[in-house]
Amino acid sequence: MSHTQDIDIAIFGGGVAGLWLVNVLRGAGYSCVLLETDTLGGGQTLLSQGIIHGGLKYALGGALSSEAEAIAGMPDRWRQCLQGNGEPDLRDVRVLSDTQHLFSAGSMASGISSFFASRMLRGRIRKLKRPDYPGTLDHPDFRGRVYRLDDLVVETESLVEALAHPHRDLLLRFDPSRHRLRWNEQGLASIELGATTLRPHATMLAAGAGNEQLLEQAGAHITLPVESQRRPLHMVLMRHQREDLRFYAHCLGASNKPRLTITTHDLPDGSLVWYLGGDLAERGVERDEAEQIHAAKQELGDIFPWLDLAGMQFATLRVDRAEPRQKSLAKPDNAHVERHGNLLVTWPTKLTLAPDLCDRVQTLLAEQGPAPSGTQPELDASLDRAVPGTPWWYRMQERAND
Ligand SMILES: Cc1cc2nc3c(=O)[nH]c(=O)nc-3n(C[C@H](O)[C@H](O)[C@H](O)COP(=O)(O)OP(=O)(O)OC[C@H]3O[C@@H](n4cnc5c(N)ncnc54)[C@H](O)[C@@H]3O)c2cc1C
Repeated sequence: MSHTQDIDIAIFGGGVAGLWLVNVLRGAGYSCVLLETDTLGGGQTLLSQGIIHGGLKYALGGALSSEAEAIAGMPDRWRQCLQGNGEPDLRDVRVLSDTQHLFSAGSMASGISSFFASRMLRGRIRKLKRPDYPGTLDHPDFRGRVYRLDDLVVETESLVEALAHPHRDLLLRFDPSRHRLRWNEQGLASIELGATTLRPHATMLAAGAGNEQLLEQAGAHITLPVESQRRPLHMVLMRHQREDLRFYAHCLGASNKPRLTITTHDLPDGSLVWYLGGDLAERGVERDEAEQIHAAKQELGDIFPWLDLAGMQFATLRVDRAEPRQKSLAKPDNAHVERHGNLLVTWPTKLTLAPDLCDRVQTLLAEQGPAPSGTQPELDASLDRAVPGTPWWYRMQERAND
């Protein structure tokens, strides 16, 4: 039997943005349904490095703008949620590291070290003495300087699980080959999921790279000045068994961008993966897999000459960062939300900025509606539910076992 139901908000995309939104909006009394074409977190979220930045890159650029001040507040916002004192409740999320290190491989670029000592960064960054160096840098041949940042690193698998679990009944699989969207000049009029039709009063596009296609469909009915961009990355992964190399750090070179950003992730068999981003991943987009692995080995050999790379398993992963279009592919500075009729187009632009994105959405909803109905959708048990994905690096263990 067919069934039509009004809901306050439909959210497209089950990455950090959509999942954070469903938590916050449901908490505020909105009836929400989230629609996901694949697995929850399976886009950028489970491929991210999980660093909750406090605005370091702005500091490296030499200025802390008002946006950078907003990002500077994010680690504290996350900490509140991780302690169960904020919304959403993230007490079940594993914190991989409470701090990030920042080090120079040789002499630090001029100006940067004095900038670290400046008033702007006081309390956010601390220069370390040798006994406090992390294990990876604790070698007599290491000559650089090491700083500790107050940024934390979260495990994205447990983040996706913690955000999804309380609302799993509302997280639906959307299959564009079977399901249908009907648009009008106000935005999305209805979502047809077989016998169930949902009529949302507002719709959030939070589908990362998938926003591109949704915007194209909506654009046939409403004028949308917003466009998306993709910033490609070629990340490198190094699997190893050395617990003493559990490392979360940015290596600085001569420029104001990290030369290498390293995070460490766990595999189910107890082995570890170094996930390498930064300049290596940005410049590596022109290289094929073999060339990128070669470049990574050279970079690691240069930065950590004492590290024995024999026996380490390497792989690479291509992934795009999906964001609102910027001039000359520059990185956007803050979460982005734009409203057109009943359509809100969103990109957090960083995992870190998910709370900022929700604040901006809530402000727009408070100004222009809809108001929360205080009801909950009743969804047929036969509708497919979306389930959490797994991080790409689990495949390295499978490959090694083949
Ligand atoms: C390699 C890498 C490392 C990163 N590291 C960090 C970091 O350390 N710290 C940080 O703050 N940020 C980091 N980021 C950025 C961060 O990961 C992203 O900004 C964030 O995850 C984006 O979340 P999202 O929910 O908007 O998109 P996504 O996580 O991409 O989720 C979008 C979801 O929408 C779904 N979808 C697509 N099309 C449709 C459709 N038509 N209908 C319904 N659903 C659809 C997808 O399947 C996907 O699940 C990193 C990004 C990358 C690529």
